[in-house]
Amino acid sequence: MDPCIFCSIIEGDIPSHSIYEDKDTMAFLDVNPISPGHTLVIPKHHCSKLNELPPQDVVSLTKTIHSLIGPIERALGANATTIAFNNGIEAGQEVPHVHCHIIPRFPQDGGRSIHSLLEKPQPPLTKLSTIAESIKNLM
Ligand code: AMP
Ligand code: ZN
Repeated sequence: MDPCIFCSIIEGDIPSHSIYEDKDTMAFLDVNPISPGHTLVIPKHHCSKLNELPPQDVVSLTKTIHSLIGPIERALGANATTIAFNNGIEAGQEVPHVHCHIIPRFPQDGGRSIHSLLEKPQPPLTKLSTIAESIKNLM
């Protein structure tokens, strides 16, 4: 089986434009950016989906994401960022190693909000309470 491409970047076996590294996390520029400064932040612990990541690694990952937003925005002269995980194949995830996209956003960049991901209508209000209950029952 091929090694995970992001694990290979962590190991230094594949080059990257690294911008941050600590014991638990790493950040590097996306090789195919959709915006200048498009950055990926990853845990060093390999797993596919954010909800499979051990909580202590989620804490480390979140701290790294939080610390990088300001420097990335300032470096690129951006006032905003879209911050997102494609969490699973159906959500568009191509690399099966948890990664957070930090995407600098600019006036008139032509991009939209995450609400533009799906064009389907919202579920009717009467259904929201049922959905909320079913989620709460599984926590
Ligand atoms: P996703 O669809 O969320 O899995 O996105 C994977 C991202 O990884 C894409 O934006 C790719 O451009 C990026 N990517 C793939 N290989 C590399 C690499 N070797 N170095 C940097 N970014 C990469
Ligand atoms: Zn990996």
